[in-house]
Amino acid sequence: MMRKKLVILLSITLLLFTQCTNKQEVKQTADMKNITEQTVKKVQNALIAKAGIENKDLIERGVAHAASLWRASDGSESEFEVFCTENYIIDNAEKQIIFEKISKNFESLWGHGNKIMLDMNENMHLENGPYHNIDAMFAAYSPSAHFADDFYANKIAFVIALNYPPFSLDEKNELGKNWTNLQWAFARLGDVFTARVPANLSQAISQAATDADIYISEYNIYMGHLLNGKGEKLFPEDMVLLSHWNLRDEIKSNYANKEVGLEKQDMIYTVMKHIIGQSIPEKVINSGAYDWNPITNKVFENGTEIQLASEPDTRYQQIINNFKALKATDSYYTDYNTFIKRSFSGEKEIPQEEVEKLFDQYLSSPVAKQVGQLISKRLGRDLRPYDIWYDGFKARSSISEESLNAITEKKYPNAKALEADLDEILVKLGWSKERAELLASKISVDPARGSGHAWGAQMKSEKAHLRTRISGKGMNYKGYNIAIHEFGHNVEQTISLNDVEYYMLNGVPNTAFTEATAFIFQKRDLQLLGINDPNPDKAYFETIDLYWQVFEIMGVSMVDMNVWKWLYENPDATATQLKEAVIRISKEVWNKYYAEIYGVKDEPILAIYTHMISNPLYLANYSFGHLIDFQIENYIAGKNFPSEVDRIWSIGRLTPDAWMQKAVGESISIKPMIEATEEALKHIN
Ligand SMILES: [Zn+2]
Repeated sequence: MMRKKLVILLSITLLLFTQCTNKQEVKQTADMKNITEQTVKKVQNALIAKAGIENKDLIERGVAHAASLWRASDGSESEFEVFCTENYIIDNAEKQIIFEKISKNFESLWGHGNKIMLDMNENMHLENGPYHNIDAMFAAYSPSAHFADDFYANKIAFVIALNYPPFSLDEKNELGKNWTNLQWAFARLGDVFTARVPANLSQAISQAATDADIYISEYNIYMGHLLNGKGEKLFPEDMVLLSHWNLRDEIKSNYANKEVGLEKQDMIYTVMKHIIGQSIPEKVINSGAYDWNPITNKVFENGTEIQLASEPDTRYQQIINNFKALKATDSYYTDYNTFIKRSFSGEKEIPQEEVEKLFDQYLSSPVAKQVGQLISKRLGRDLRPYDIWYDGFKARSSISEESLNAITEKKYPNAKALEADLDEILVKLGWSKERAELLASKISVDPARGSGHAWGAQMKSEKAHLRTRISGKGMNYKGYNIAIHEFGHNVEQTISLNDVEYYMLNGVPNTAFTEATAFIFQKRDLQLLGINDPNPDKAYFETIDLYWQVFEIMGVSMVDMNVWKWLYENPDATATQLKEAVIRISKEVWNKYYAEIYGVKDEPILAIYTHMISNPLYLANYSFGHLIDFQIENYIAGKNFPSEVDRIWSIGRLTPDAWMQKAVGESISIKPMIEATEEALKHIN
């Protein structure tokens, strides 16, 4: 987990569109686009005549982009003309000087904004004693909420749009091959102001998302009220599970239960199918008032059967609400005029078609069948659909958890002990003492209330924060393992802020890339304790386990992507029509990639994921993190670990493809992960 992207997202995406609603309603007519195509042409030609034909492309791009952001409230057409003439920078040296000034000031704005957010959230995130309502009120405050408003009003956004216009993903990937770091940094500055979506539409998006979150957060199943065919209750009376995460985890935890584990797993899957198909009685959701037999779908009140209405496709209405709110902003984007494009080409910076192609390769690999057979053998039965969550490969270390706890508790009695040891950890990973001390001096360890996270700085003079939970006894092994993961994030955050050539390039391409570093550190946790785990199979089991997790998530991502394509083809669909489409699509994906391995067709299980309701098109990130992790590990093997980490994380925020080319010399690929799985299977079998 990491927090750095939050601020980038806030400053670049969300807050771009945040305005006060009232003001917006009043300004409704004043905020229409008012620059005609004619004026755009006229200004372009005038600037080309002045700056020379060699600047034609950039001028045309810049003027058109500034015009697309300009509203009547910003000035008349002639004022736009004057603005462009006065603010277009012809001289290259001057353009760089002005870029550096903007950059320095944005570092101050975003860096301090981030620092304020950290401070405002401190009582919520750190162990600062009991918290009060006032803490939550401060935590909800965002210092950069009016950033976009302010920068359109003071016209700096237009100076940037005119002189440092944005490039589409295809253009970045193609033209970027020959770009200098400075040209990349110009393009990243261009990405700060790409679309000006009216505040009421942005608010509608967050309202729909919040409603979906609330719907999900109240979707509990009262397990103690489920009946089997014999009228027995298999689950503890007080067990309440949130769909789908807790239901899935309960399936996982029942692999160890040899008596009724299978019956419980089957029953949970039956519940899931009622949720997917919306045949679940509405009143058993989030309530223990009735007993429910999911197999017959009969409901009982005090032992007497009663009739209850099914949930009226509310699950799918949530997706439609999200879709409509997001689609309403499509016309404000030049390149990314669908949410699918914004999510993939825009946010992840990998085109959806490429993601689908890559996932298809992974899902079609014959290694899946071998892993399936191995699982079936270990379970001693044929596979069932919910074995997509089989987690029996979690190899325990050959050293007991107790003795590991004893080591970490003694070594790290509190947060400051870990902070004092960070440079030593880096030295053990191979960094020189001097470099290790420098990196460690930029990371602070704080005692967290929750499970922990890594929150990076946004300005070079600030530190990154490693938040970790430590009990009175000291840090247990589990906490230590997570802390090393977070430390990986912090090291990435520190290098990719301090060592990239230009501030505008700070960071890594997207969330998946920072997860990859965290995995790389986390895997070395025992080595850092000076323990050589003598269990040779542990790494192989971990690889197969990861392979199987990604095999599941990619299938769900496939469903998610195809559902959104269907929505765009059927924008007026009802919740019921969407439900039918989701079930059909999930069965199609199942039949294509899973049916042969599982020996059963037409299973809808991939449609149970909650992310599809509350976080559409997000899941793909998770798969990429692992693919990239395997590629980097594969590339680093046999090379100098610290110098490669230093080199790779200082490349800066290029596009994923351009970054991977520089980091490991190839595009994102499934190959290293598939090969590692094949290798692992050879050793296990
Ligand atoms: Zn993480």
